Amino acid sequence: MKTKFDIIIVGSGIAGCALAWQWHLNGKTVLIVGDKMKGSSSVAAGVYNPTILKRFTSVWKAADQLDYLNHFYPLIKEKVSSNFLHPIDILRRLHDEREVKTWQKKSIRPELKEFMSQDISSYDNTAIDAPFNYGKVSGTGWVDTVNYMTATIQFFGNMNCFLEEEFDFNELVHSKDLVCYKDYQASKIIFSEGFKMTANPFFSHLPLQGNKGEVLTIKVPGLQLDYIIKSSVFLMPYVDDLFWVGATYNRDDLSDIPTQDARTFLTSRLERFLKLPYEIVDHKHGIRPTTKDRRPFVGSHKSYPNYVVFNGMGSRAVLMAPWAAKQLFDSMYKDIPLNEEIDINRFNNN
Ligand SMILES: Cc1cc2nc3c(=O)[nH]c(=O)nc-3n(C[C@H](O)[C@H](O)[C@H](O)COP(=O)(O)OP(=O)(O)OC[C@H]3O[C@@H](n4cnc5c(N)ncnc54)[C@H](O)[C@@H]3O)c2cc1C
Repeated sequence: MKTKFDIIIVGSGIAGCALAWQWHLNGKTVLIVGDKMKGSSSVAAGVYNPTILKRFTSVWKAADQLDYLNHFYPLIKEKVSSNFLHPIDILRRLHDEREVKTWQKKSIRPELKEFMSQDISSYDNTAIDAPFNYGKVSGTGWVDTVNYMTATIQFFGNMNCFLEEEFDFNELVHSKDLVCYKDYQASKIIFSEGFKMTANPFFSHLPLQGNKGEVLTIKVPGLQLDYIIKSSVFLMPYVDDLFWVGATYNRDDLSDIPTQDARTFLTSRLERFLKLPYEIVDHKHGIRPTTKDRRPFVGSHKSYPNYVVFNGMGSRAVLMAPWAAKQLFDSMYKDIPLNEEIDINRFNNN
């Protein structure tokens, strides 16, 4: 006799957790199969930001995703009694007069004015050098991803709905209305494996790209920050006198080790504006699951319709995954078609 669930989820990163909560909060049963936080979600700074601060543009569907984020994470907080959502504004350090003018021009655009201050802001903090001042972004913040995933795994584990193991594809059986895995069955299985999707026999044909990111944790005694500072790297207050500095982007070197090059890049950019001494206390790396068109991969396999993929969150999983999980849920249970831009049918999907 097999134990029945509505879905089985493979992977317990930010994407898998978003799915699990979306289903649970809608009264569905979930089994998560995961190897506990070995993916990029455990190194993510967890920042959510509806704007792209390199080019001063808006993230695709930014307002919808942000609205949903502010609805979604507080619902989970109620379930697990743990707070991992930390709203905090971002100050974009402006590099020269040209950037000041670009900010002023872009910040009045309809899709950006909700988030970008129209005025140039000053910030009275002698530890940060910013001769051209800042543009302020609101509606931003960070999610403590490790806390979020730990609480999620514990919550589902307490209900015997978390299986800690490497998923074994040899144990997976597909039939018309069901999938079976070991002693469990469900109507669908959803794969949320992050970059490890490249080893999934059913979805490895999708063009997922890896993008390695590295981030430092530094200790800066005496630094008080009321904002996340974004320059060519970001500096984010974490706890006490610990701060995060990140991140690098590298599509060529996907090695599973932190590098001296990344460390040098991050510290050299940081020292352009941080005027206090600091000590590096940690250096982490991970591979982001990115896609060329910056849209996630969501949808069913053509030949195995009960096999579903949910991946490609790129560098914005915290903001994108809750919204995308809702899109998937609505397509399965409410007959609302998936947004074409996230549907894997945009590729040759066999
Ligand atoms: C340095 C860095 C900084 C970042 N900063 C941010 C940020 O500030 N904000 C933001 O939104 N995003 C950020 N990101 C991106 C973010 O980390 C990713 O988008 C996100 O982690 C992707 O989540 P995921 O659940 O799809 O994948 P993952 O986090 O990789 O999770 C997948 C999980 O599935 C498990 N798994 C895979 N295959 C199997 C299997 N066969 N059996 C069992 N388990 C399996 C993996 O081990 C892993 O635990 C950052 C990334 C990096 C590297």
